[in-house]
Amino acid sequence: MTRNAQLFERAQRVIPGGVNSPVRAFRQVGGTPRFIDRAEGAYMIDAEGTRFIDYIGSWGPMIAGHAHPEVTEAVQRAATRSLSFGAPTADEIDMAEAICQLMPAVEMVRLVSSGTEAGMSAIRLARGYTGRDAIVKFEGCYHGHADSLLVKAGSGLLTFGNPSSAGVPADLARHTLVLEFNNIPQIEALFATRGHEIACVMVEPIAGNMNFIRGDAAWHRRLRELCTEHGALLVWDEVMTGFRVALGGAQQVYGIRPDLVVMGKVIGGGMPLAAFGGRRDVMERLSPLGAVYQAGTLSGNPVAVAAGMAQLRIIQRPGFYAQLSAATGQLMRGLEAAAGRHGVRFKTDSEGGMFGFYFSDALPRNYPDVARADVETFKRFFHAMLDRGVYLAPSMYEAGFVSAAHGPDVIAATLEAADAAFAQLA
Ligand code: PLP
Repeated sequence: MTRNAQLFERAQRVIPGGVNSPVRAFRQVGGTPRFIDRAEGAYMIDAEGTRFIDYIGSWGPMIAGHAHPEVTEAVQRAATRSLSFGAPTADEIDMAEAICQLMPAVEMVRLVSSGTEAGMSAIRLARGYTGRDAIVKFEGCYHGHADSLLVKAGSGLLTFGNPSSAGVPADLARHTLVLEFNNIPQIEALFATRGHEIACVMVEPIAGNMNFIRGDAAWHRRLRELCTEHGALLVWDEVMTGFRVALGGAQQVYGIRPDLVVMGKVIGGGMPLAAFGGRRDVMERLSPLGAVYQAGTLSGNPVAVAAGMAQLRIIQRPGFYAQLSAATGQLMRGLEAAAGRHGVRFKTDSEGGMFGFYFSDALPRNYPDVARADVETFKRFFHAMLDRGVYLAPSMYEAGFVSAAHGPDVIAATLEAADAAFAQLA
């Protein structure tokens, strides 16, 4: 038995499914998950000493590459000053100022420890601010695992063919209205009949939890107009796209200003740190100023803030996103060319350091399109790449991530592996 298989067997005895987050279990693709020992730059090394080019990047945070010396040194320095205080620090103000400066829609921000917590808090704030209960989300978008948001919620749940979770009270789920992504007539019809009940519309501007699907600019503009007209808040979940598709997130790409923004992943540099922020008049409704309660023992944790700030300094250097986009673009064009050489139907899309690929003739526009995709071919491709040392997300519903450490040699090695993998599929 291999070392990974031994670890998986041991893990399954004490951890449900052997993993601490379901998609890590390789359920969709089958086979044994790789237990990771360490990672450096663009590479992860598993418990058997096998090196993989990593396109997961811890599901988004590792945009500067693994174990970046500036990030690890910042963490080490912060750790010697104690791991947590539960009191305010100067460093958390630096981080809040940096986020407000970089994210066009954010005037005030609160730090929390996970994207789930940030999303959950944002909808409580939207409900408290508007005095309304209903929230709108879109099929296939994932906003963390808070009860109200686990309704037709992307990736992990789609991977298991279970669009809503057991354990979510029907009484709560009925306040979550779920519409199709990119469908303007549907949202217009809903606002026309129930606009006065809607506290917020929450959306992943570019959905990364059902592969990679761009929201149409016209659809996003319509969501903005309808929220304004009806007094609902527009909440953009930029946990994945924030500081990833561009320095100013999807807000910069689309030039649209949501009322609230949910952030995570990149801002923590790989540590548990997330945030929600937005309009000052809305954020001032939070406790201790206002009546909407929200709190956290480890919120603004000094070690997490140190890691996040170190990474935020790296991504603000001139040319960072130009280089990241160029590497991602080179990878996408190379993959499409390799698929074409071997007659495999294959499409890609990307923005900044985030990408998706799809075994089909056309890019998906919404969840029903993704659900029709060719899972069998995806599985074979995933394993053909893994066998050649390229670690892709083990689910067809997940976006992929490139880091600044994915230089030309790494991309070239990936494309060489892909050429052989596509040849195997043909
Ligand atoms: N929102 C989006 C768009 C996400 O992709 C995720 C996680 O993948 C979350 C929210 C939840 O974040 P976390 O896993 O930190 O709770």
